[in-house]
Amino acid sequence: MKLITFLYDSKEYIGVLSPDGARAVPCAELGVSYSDMLSLAVNISNEELTEMKKRLNGYTGGFQLTEVKLLAPIPRPDKDIICLGVNFKDHAEESVDVMGSEYGGERKFPIYFAKRVNEAVPCGDPINGHFDIVTELDYEAEMAFVVRKDAFNVKGENAAEYVFGYTIMNDVSARCIQMRHKQWFRGKSFDGFAPMGPCLVTADEFEFPPKLDITCHVNGELRQSSNTSLYIHNIPYALEELSNGMTIKAGTIISMGTPGGVGMGFKPPRYLKSGDLIECEVQGIGKLVNRVK
Ligand code: MG
Repeated sequence: MKLITFLYDSKEYIGVLSPDGARAVPCAELGVSYSDMLSLAVNISNEELTEMKKRLNGYTGGFQLTEVKLLAPIPRPDKDIICLGVNFKDHAEESVDVMGSEYGGERKFPIYFAKRVNEAVPCGDPINGHFDIVTELDYEAEMAFVVRKDAFNVKGENAAEYVFGYTIMNDVSARCIQMRHKQWFRGKSFDGFAPMGPCLVTADEFEFPPKLDITCHVNGELRQSSNTSLYIHNIPYALEELSNGMTIKAGTIISMGTPGGVGMGFKPPRYLKSGDLIECEVQGIGKLVNRVK
């Protein structure tokens, strides 16, 4: 199921996209009541999910998608997003010149960093480039997953049971600020630097770990093209390592990193400017489209 958060008549709903993609069906109409997507993700049982899916088939109610305003599936994450950095080989190679030789070659250990997201930007809304302080604005198409139950000392082979679902994130980055400080936190965390959506696809829709094409177009030009099977460190690895000694709380969002082809990797670099249209697509999830303000 493709879960969505949306506004109708100024009221916030959680719902499901109808199978034809034309309607937004509130979860409550399918017999499931949670206050928001985070509480649904961490509380819903597999039986409830199956029941929802059954009711959705053939259900003709809900709102036309054209009548609602989509929000990010999890508009207000309650924890910093955990991100993997430089987790594709081609992105590692293109990062060497800008970030240093330690990012290339064999990558034995993943890079983990946190990204503050006060409010995730919905598909269709503008990205604030903060051009008063940012000179090197960049895009990063990524697949992210949501943890459904507290994970502590999880073995990789059991990782699937901790994954609630998948969404698309654009890990918007201010390279000038990311590189200036020794930690990436600030350059990744400005208001509006986390476009997310358009939906959250429940984990049962994909094999595990998912093998999905991931692309990014800027102004219609293909910049990034890869597949989530090509992570240097995959979801089972990351969940096993992250949960080793630290509880990864239910509701945590983990973003798995971006392929090669970011603006920073071009010679000369091709950073974003006002008016640029960014389309991040992950097979089976959808397309996250935002224009730089
Ligand atoms: Mg990233």
